[in-house]
Amino acid sequence: MKISKRSQEIQPSATMKSSAQAKKMIANGIDVINLGIGEPDFETPKNIEQAAIEAIKGGKASFYTPSAGLPELRTAVANRTSQDYGLNNLRAENIAITTGAKMALYSVFQTILDPGDEVLLPEPYWVSYSEQIKLAGGVPVPVVVGDSFKATPADLDKYLTAKTVALVLNSPANPTGVIYDQAELSALNSWTKQHDLMVVTDDIYGQLTYNGATFTSIAQLSEQLDPRIIIINGASKTYSMTGWRMGYVVADAELISKISAFLSHATGNPTAVSQYALEAALSGDQSQVEVMRQAFETRLNTIYPLLTDIPGFRLPIKPKGAFYLFPDVSEALKLSGIKTTGELVSRLLNEAHVSLVDGTAFGVDNHVRISYATDLDSLKTAMARINTFMVQFK
Ligand code: PLP
Repeated sequence: MKISKRSQEIQPSATMKSSAQAKKMIANGIDVINLGIGEPDFETPKNIEQAAIEAIKGGKASFYTPSAGLPELRTAVANRTSQDYGLNNLRAENIAITTGAKMALYSVFQTILDPGDEVLLPEPYWVSYSEQIKLAGGVPVPVVVGDSFKATPADLDKYLTAKTVALVLNSPANPTGVIYDQAELSALNSWTKQHDLMVVTDDIYGQLTYNGATFTSIAQLSEQLDPRIIIINGASKTYSMTGWRMGYVVADAELISKISAFLSHATGNPTAVSQYALEAALSGDQSQVEVMRQAFETRLNTIYPLLTDIPGFRLPIKPKGAFYLFPDVSEALKLSGIKTTGELVSRLLNEAHVSLVDGTAFGVDNHVRISYATDLDSLKTAMARINTFMVQFK
């Protein structure tokens, strides 16, 4: 048997691994609360499910579609993005529909990177960026940022080399929930323009902002989409459609035609029935999006004070978006004598029956990621369990 060097270097997704472990324990009858997974717990809104059922019944879901998606869906995404972002130059040719935002990102890195090209990744960053960059032959360059968890031009300056080709931004962010404001984005926009860098902006949590916070994308800073900027988006988080695997890339038409060529060999096309579902999601009633957003806001406001009461868990800045908390647990390690965050996460799983993700998977030591995409009662119980676990060391 032979396994390529490239495959040997790839780490499995830490978030998916931790969640699989929790699900296995649950299947064995252990009452584990899984806060490891970034997956909304709501059923997909009924109008979306209905559109998919009708597509199947009408025989529309049986066949291949164009590799970058159905023309009418690409137009719907172009119209919706133009409207939401205030851009006036988007057409179907600027859109590629993909198998989840994960494939959107994968196809972008495959299309823009040459071997050795460096991509700046402000820490902490979502687990798949670094592995996908490596799979494309690129070099992920983690960027250490300040306590705000947001990169500034001064932070990025330290990592800029002649090989740097792109910056990845994710706001609202996984795993920290922080949101860049317009002034911060403006500074990053000028800096990337000055150094002629591409920007991959992963806006998948753009609709999930709380307590009056608003979302701005770096792509919105001009009236026309800048060809240096690539927007990633998808239906998983906004419409609770993780299982449908619908994402998309919004970019310059020439780049999209290359992405489409790549996709024609990689996936053939995104699943037809899911494309009809996404079309219904974008064009239909949006009231469920607000209902889900409000539920997340209530969860955040309930568990943030419970979490910061836990001995050794520090999170001075309350997150404003996405559905994660990323507390510093250095004190918890000191208090408990537990040596690593990996060991802390494993003891919390086995002794407190709460599943979290070790922050090192996101490039940062001494932190854990907690997802609040779970019902309120389970979240309260989970916080009480972690608290009881930590109180024993006081
Ligand atoms: N981008 C970020 C920041 C994410 O957190 C996720 C999922 O967790 C994705 C992209 C991929 O989402 P999907 O492939 O389900 O559309």
